[in-house]
Amino acid sequence: MGSWETDRYSSPLLNFSRISKNTNADKLQATALGQCIGITGSGIGGGLGPLNGVYGLGLDQFVSFHVVLANGSFVTASQTQNPDLFWGLRGAGHNFGIITSAKLRIYDRPNSSTWSYQQLLFTGDKLEAMFETLNTKLDTQPGHLTHDVSIYQIGTDSAILDLRIFSATYTPTELDLYAAPFHSLGPFENTSIQTDYPGLIREMGYEPPAEGCTPPHGSFGGVFGVGVKRHNPAAMRNMYELFNNLTLSVPELGDSYVFIEGYGTEAVRKVDVRSTAFPGRGIRAWPNVVLAYKGQFKNDTLEGIVKEQGEKMRTAMLEGQERQTTYVNYAMEQESLEALYGYEEWRLKKLRKLKREVDPHNRFGFFAPIH
Ligand SMILES: Cc1cc2nc3c(=O)[nH]c(=O)nc-3n(C[C@H](O)[C@H](O)[C@H](O)COP(=O)(O)OP(=O)(O)OC[C@H]3O[C@@H](n4cnc5c(N)ncnc54)[C@H](O)[C@@H]3O)c2cc1C
Repeated sequence: MGSWETDRYSSPLLNFSRISKNTNADKLQATALGQCIGITGSGIGGGLGPLNGVYGLGLDQFVSFHVVLANGSFVTASQTQNPDLFWGLRGAGHNFGIITSAKLRIYDRPNSSTWSYQQLLFTGDKLEAMFETLNTKLDTQPGHLTHDVSIYQIGTDSAILDLRIFSATYTPTELDLYAAPFHSLGPFENTSIQTDYPGLIREMGYEPPAEGCTPPHGSFGGVFGVGVKRHNPAAMRNMYELFNNLTLSVPELGDSYVFIEGYGTEAVRKVDVRSTAFPGRGIRAWPNVVLAYKGQFKNDTLEGIVKEQGEKMRTAMLEGQERQTTYVNYAMEQESLEALYGYEEWRLKKLRKLKREVDPHNRFGFFAPIH
């Protein structure tokens, strides 16, 4: 499969809805699922998406950046020009300057235009079995097979589990084999479709202004995320019970959901973990509790509940994990710098040195600033 570079794109606000049209034409790009988010903003923190397992993270696609630094200078950052800045921009990029344009890798698209997609809905009592089965996939999951799980209320007495499995290389038979152990758990509903990439985005609810891009019926309260190498089903059960109780007993938070990204990681893990500022290449899945307010219901009391209960659910999910890792793009800024940027001493040292050199007065400290 050939790899190409785009012409430099010069709109830092370009979002994925434009790129997805290319992804359905003769070239592919490692996009995020969320179509309304910025390519730059999401890419410089990581860039999680369904093609990660084949092409790497969003940030692995950057070939070079043009950046305006805090002192007004205009520089290029690439493997050969300002390599330390290039390193830092890929994982902690919101800290160092304004990226005015960038060059990205794109890829030849395989012949078939069909994506395979299955959605299986389970009742909450299948939670342990589902996570145990997911664990059998995490280490061996080929790059092009990918999954995510959402947990949410549908008006019954407990939240449901919504497992979505999809394949980036268009092989329904392979997808069927992958999905078979999940089918044997007895979903109460399942859907299977073949579609093109825009169809996949639509089907999954990510096409603007669909709910993936605007909170479904209200406003965003907070994301409480972790990264895991394996799921701990007992921990996920504890989180589930807390989530279920909260969303049933506080109706204003009833549109909240848990979102677990389990995209392929094969190509992500092939990149040397020291080569970018992104610390989470060993992570296999990213479970996030997303608490959302219904409509106008946001108030101080609810905000307090969100903060307290969100952290409680995050703590529950961390049981059995070595330590907390949180995807920086989902940071609530209650996390430690280590959780966001990595625990190896050299990482924060290198980031702090770079920050002192290019942004000593923290002009670019809008989000999860390095200090
Ligand atoms: C609906 C939704 C769906 C999402 N889906 C995904 C997903 O599929 N995969 C994924 O990885 N993440 C996803 N995210 C998280 C997303 O990566 C982060 O929210 C990210 O910060 C979005 O970047 P933005 O440019 O759209 O937002 P912004 O808030 O504009 O930018 C985020 C940060 O990046 C900095 N920044 C932005 N542009 C530049 C620039 N040109 N130069 C320097 N700094 C800049 C800003 O300082 C800001 O602090 C999703 C978020 C939402 C709300």
